[in-house]
Parts: sequence; structure tokens; C-alpha cells
Amino acid sequence: MSIRFRLTVWYSALLGAMLLLFSFGLYSFLTNAILADVSNTLKGQGEQAAAVIELELDPMAAVRRDDTSLLPRVVFATQVYAQVLTPDGVIYQRSPNLKNMDQILPISQEMLDRNLKGQSGYYTLRQQGTPIHVYSMPIHHTNGDIVGVLQIGQSLVDMQNMLGRVRTALYLISVLGIIGTALGGALLARSALRPIDDITATARRIGRTENLAERIAIPDSGDEVSRLAETFNEMLTRLDHLFQTQQRLVGDVSHELRTPLTTIQGNLDLLKRGAIEDAELRQEALAEIETEARRMTRMVGDLLLLAQADAGHVLNRAPVELDTLLLDVFRQGVMMAQGQVELRLGHEDQAQIMGDVDRLRQLLLNLIDNAIKYTPAGGMITLALYRESAQVRIEVTDTGIGIAENDLPHIFERFFRADRARSRRLGGTGLGLSIVHWVAQAHGGDIEVRSELGKGSTFTLRLPLADGLPRSR
Ligand code: ADP
Repeated sequence: MSIRFRLTVWYSALLGAMLLLFSFGLYSFLTNAILADVSNTLKGQGEQAAAVIELELDPMAAVRRDDTSLLPRVVFATQVYAQVLTPDGVIYQRSPNLKNMDQILPISQEMLDRNLKGQSGYYTLRQQGTPIHVYSMPIHHTNGDIVGVLQIGQSLVDMQNMLGRVRTALYLISVLGIIGTALGGALLARSALRPIDDITATARRIGRTENLAERIAIPDSGDEVSRLAETFNEMLTRLDHLFQTQQRLVGDVSHELRTPLTTIQGNLDLLKRGAIEDAELRQEALAEIETEARRMTRMVGDLLLLAQADAGHVLNRAPVELDTLLLDVFRQGVMMAQGQVELRLGHEDQAQIMGDVDRLRQLLLNLIDNAIKYTPAGGMITLALYRESAQVRIEVTDTGIGIAENDLPHIFERFFRADRARSRRLGGTGLGLSIVHWVAQAHGGDIEVRSELGKGSTFTLRLPLADGLPRSR
């Protein structure tokens, strides 16, 4: 069932219920008000007539004489009937309009008894299909005795006719109101929901054609629907970006893996065919196979880590003594450098942050590894740690080959290498700095590089400080 249909049905049902309640209320209010009005008039007229009767010294004598002058003294409307009964319920006197129609106003024994006890009351009776509202009251003798009962009645035909017309009007208003609401509601719902149909159609088209570049035309209504369209477009943009990154990555990975695999395969073929007779060359082929296999293992490990980063991998945060960590990686760096380049520790403050020690170690080792790789023999690498007011700054400076200015903006991209052949020769994967960048960002920090071709590079890592920790030495 469509939302449009449901909305329309709900509108109409709600309005219908409201109209029904309103009509019912109005109708019963009118009925009661009119009846109260009639009752009041009857009572007034009854009391007036009774007063006249009671003024008579011997009212019953007048009644017995059939003295018609008694009732005409009170002016009655044509639809007002009057009747006088003796205490035993026998009719003594009737107004002329009753007499002419040869009608009486019947009374129940109960009402008669009540009247004879001095109480008055109302009741409604039907006379040949006509409802008549009756006020029935005792007639007192001047000495206080109850000498009879006076009944004043009024036809309710006018009231019934009027209420009938009100009923018809209410019925018409309700039906027209509901039809109007249903039509208006359906139109409104249709125009309000049309953009959703558009969104559905676009989503379907994208699903069919897999064209993530397509976007929904956003209605400039600034309402929920335009926000939905906006959100949908944003989602498409992100999906498109992710999809393209994914495709590029798959392309890059297969390309990157092909070269080592070809090298391994080639060397294996040669070895299998016994083509390499020289023992030294055989060793070289085996070493090459080993290097490539190791490089591939590293690349797969790096890719896995980056994939986890993309999937929102959470850091295992704990307090990390950065100065201790720096000392640690410095020692490791000295071993990695194998005396080719000199490593030294520069300024070193004491600093502690909340971080993932394994990831931070990896970050620093990647920077040191690069510095060693891209610094010719005899060069110098300096590690330094500065504790500043709200952050820690770690610098890895080398006197290596440097990075060209137009390569600088790209070096943190996955698989980017300024000199592919050199990087490969040195066992690089092109993923080291991407990991450095991710780890820095995941810690709420950043990484920056300054470099000059032929002179060297400085990588500056900034990490926010944890509060309330030891001051610098
Ligand atoms: P790789 O595995 O190739 O070293 P990285 O992501 O670690 O990949 O580095 C990307 C590229 O940035 C390197 O190929 C190199 O061209 C350049 N680079 C990184 N560090 C340095 C450095 N200290 N000196 C000069 N070039 C560097």
C-alpha cells in the first residue's frame, strides 16, 4: 500500500471522525437547547394559567359548569394545548384546539400521582405521529388543597423539522468535506512525494547501470525530501570515491605484484632448467627470489594494515613514553643502517602521549627506513623529540637525495614513488608513507615534510600531548 494512499485515507478518516463528533455535538446541543426552551415556555404558560385558575374562589365549580372563559383568559399559541384534570384523572376542561381535533393529552398514573403530591413534571407523548411535549402541574385551591391537574402541551413538529434540516446540512457538509479532503490530500501527498519517486528511479537506474557518477536533481524546497536527496547524493559521492579508490588499488596491487612474481618465476625457470651453471650466479638468483618474496610479504602486510585503517581500525591506546620509544627505534635504526650512514640522537625531551605503541613504532621505523634507503653512504640521519605546550614534535632529518618539489604533494599517496626503480631496488613498496600518514592522523596528529633535492629531507611528526604528564627535562 503506497504512502500516498495511506496518507489520504488517514486524512479523510481523521476529518470524518472530527466532523462526526462535531455534528453529533452540535445536534445534541441544539436538541437540548430547543427542548429546554420549549419546556421553559410551557412552564411559564402553565404557571400563568394556574394562577388564573387559582384566583377563582371555587375553580372546580367553574370547571364543572364547563365555564370555557377560564382557559381563554390565557393566550395560547395555536400549537399549544391545555387540559385540566380532576384529582382522579378525569378530563374537565380542554383548550379549544384540542377540543376541535377531538384529542386529549393522556397522562400516566405515575405523573398524576406526582402532580397530586404537589410536584410538576415534563413528558413527551406521540399524538397521531406528532410528538407533543407536556408540562403537567398541580392546581391549588386558595386554601392550599390540590384540586386538580393542569397540563400544557406543545407540538415538537417545528423543532423536528428544523433539526431534520440541520441533519441534512451536516450530512452534506461532512460528505463534501471528506471528499474534498481525500482529493486535496491525495494531490498534496502526490506532489510532496514525487521527489521520492525520482530518488527511487535514480537509485534503480544506478543499480542497473552501475554508474555511480549519476546524481539526483535536488528539489530546492529545503525540506525533508531535499535533505534526503542531498544525503543520497553525498552517499553516492562517497561510494563513487571508494569505488574508484578500490579499483585503483586493485589495479596498483596487481601491477605491483606482477613484477616480483615475474622475477621469481623467471629465476625459478632458469634454476629448474639448470641454465645457471655458475654456483655464484645460482646463489644470486636464489637471493633475488628471496628478496622479492620478502618484499611481497611486506607489501601484503602493509596492504592489510591500510585495509584495516580504511575499515575504521581502532587504535589500542595506552600511555606511551615517546622518548623511550624513540631510543628504541634509534637502536634498531643503527642496526638497519649497517654503518652505511650515521644515525644520531638530537634534542630529546621527555614526553608521554596516549597512543598505540606498535603503530607509533611502525611509523618511526618507516621514516627511519626511508631515511636510510634514500641517503647515500656517509650521510647522516638525526632523530629529535621536542615537547611543546600542547604537542610533541618528532623530527627525522636526513642528508639524502631529497624529494623534488612537484613530488612532495604526492609522497603520502599509496604506491607513489618518486623513483620507482630505485625504490624497488631498495625493497620499497610505496606504502610506507601512507601508513605513516594514517597512524599520525589516527592519533589526532599530522606529518609534514620539508625537502630539497640533493640536500636532504626532514619529516616532522606532530602528536597531541596527553595532559598532566611529566614536564620536559
Ligand atoms: P617506498 O617503499 O618507496 O619507500 P614510501 O611510501 O615509504 O614508499 O615513500 C614514498 C616515496 O617517497 C619514496 O619512493 C621516495 O621516492 C620518497 N621518499 C620517502 N622518504 C624519503 C626520504 N627520506 N628521502 C627522499 N625521498 C623519500
